[in-house]
Amino acid sequence: MSTGTNIPLPRPTPLSRPHWDGCRDGVLRVQRCGDCGQHVFIPAPLCTYCQSGSLEWVDTQGAGSVYSYTVVHRPQRPEFRVPYVVAIVEMAEGWHMLTNLIDIEPDDVKIGMPVRVAFERMSDEITLPYFRPA
Ligand SMILES: [Zn+2]
Repeated sequence: MSTGTNIPLPRPTPLSRPHWDGCRDGVLRVQRCGDCGQHVFIPAPLCTYCQSGSLEWVDTQGAGSVYSYTVVHRPQRPEFRVPYVVAIVEMAEGWHMLTNLIDIEPDDVKIGMPVRVAFERMSDEITLPYFRPA
């Protein structure tokens, strides 16, 4: 159960490409600041916490818990299959990621429930990082 088959896909930029390459390879990759140690997502040229330019890409566990969520009943485009769950996942490393939950009924989603990344290949270039119950 994904959010749809012909949904519009993100276009990697030089900045975000390491993230998308990681997804394609089955690894959830995020930037981490070499100065303050914070994880930065979405990809940015400078640390959003301390403005340092010394960001590096690191692999993460791909595990977290539901921090917040909403159920979408009206599709933003007809390609989206509704209802679907949009969630903010708090990752084990402490950073947050906006994503979709799959393989769960909207009524069964609970704040704090453990989830794990679930990669869905959409094209040769794009694999989307969704999350499902762990
Ligand atoms: Zn920083």
